[in-house]
Amino acid sequence: MVNVNENYYNLKNDYLFSKITDKKNEYERNNPNKKVISLGVGDVSLPLVPVVIEAMHKAVDELSKKETFRGYGIVQGYEFLIDKILEVEYKKRGVNLDKDEIFIAAGTKGDLAGIAELFSKNNIVALTDPVYPAYRDTNIMLGRNNIVYLNATEENNFIPSIPKEHVDIIYLCSPNNPTGTVFTKGQLEEWVKYAKENNSIIFYDSVYEIFIEDANLPHSIYEIDGAKDVAIEFRSYSKLAGFTGVRCSFVVVPKELKVYRKNGEIANINSLWRRRQSTKFGAASYITQRAAEAVYTELGQRQIRENIKYYKENAKYMKEKLESVGFTVYGGVNSPYLWLKIPSGMKSWEFFDKLLNEAAVVGTPGVGFGNCGEGFFRLTAFSSKEDTQEAITRIINLFN
Ligand SMILES: *Cc1c(COP(=O)(O)O)cnc(C)c1O
Repeated sequence: MVNVNENYYNLKNDYLFSKITDKKNEYERNNPNKKVISLGVGDVSLPLVPVVIEAMHKAVDELSKKETFRGYGIVQGYEFLIDKILEVEYKKRGVNLDKDEIFIAAGTKGDLAGIAELFSKNNIVALTDPVYPAYRDTNIMLGRNNIVYLNATEENNFIPSIPKEHVDIIYLCSPNNPTGTVFTKGQLEEWVKYAKENNSIIFYDSVYEIFIEDANLPHSIYEIDGAKDVAIEFRSYSKLAGFTGVRCSFVVVPKELKVYRKNGEIANINSLWRRRQSTKFGAASYITQRAAEAVYTELGQRQIRENIKYYKENAKYMKEKLESVGFTVYGGVNSPYLWLKIPSGMKSWEFFDKLLNEAAVVGTPGVGFGNCGEGFFRLTAFSSKEDTQEAITRIINLFN
């Protein structure tokens, strides 16, 4: 008899997005003449920018010739890309990292899942509520069930307070999916201080940092003094440059990280991650890494920022219009996500049904991200300008 990994049966059903799809499909079957607009997806809609396409074509041509062909890559990633990351993402913000602290991979989802393996099953994990579900589920799959939830509510402006008890691993996401809130430097300093005092480690997901426009807000946790002792940072080209289908990401694993073995010795997480990647991950493709490199040219930076501006204009439009008719809207400024307070005490799913059935608009019920999301609704700015404006007009007409 073959036994399965029982941990998978401890996962909550992934009913959120399938339930949304089912309801949408049913509505479309019953209303074939209505065009349903989705403001629910966390995927980009604009195509890749021209510099990226050019770089990929060029890389393909190189692979077609004997002289320039490349096979297996370097597990850590090509130096041409790592150099650009160090320069543009970090040195410009006053952060100095070494080449061997950056690891290129094929998407943050895989990185998050992999890093979780390096730590003992017995660690206590702190997650926010609401939360990006992958943080929780990757831990449950590994059998790590000791999870503490930190509430992010309207009362604390969706910035959870520092835990009173000891926790080992803390997942932070800023700009936040789903609430759209961003940590200030002062708030992050508190978390770094907590982590140092408690010998904890912070997994810092900042895949939406490109959406930050306030000059005072930190883009990287390493802008905080001492963070290299306690934090691993996750970045992705998915939202930065529309690579959700191309797949490219990087993780920063500082050599200073203070994590301990059972016998009290310092564990070298950087080398453990290198070891793990070389066994389990075959490097991001050459074509993909050349595409990511192109993002860092002057023209590339201009082109990707044009796309980000497009989404941010959607967010601004949504926020302003919804607020003008009395909605309370969080997020949507330094983030592509709006966290809408549902009016008149309706629940998340009731509001979902009302929007779908009466306005043919789809969003994401906040309760799907955790109990604290009840009474809230996530809207995303990733649709086309036309669809976004049409959907908002329909919502406004419904509530006016
Ligand atoms: C989209 C997203 C990611 C990126 O995932 P990829 O695997 O790189 O596409 C990571 N974290 C959060 C919170 C996200 O919303």
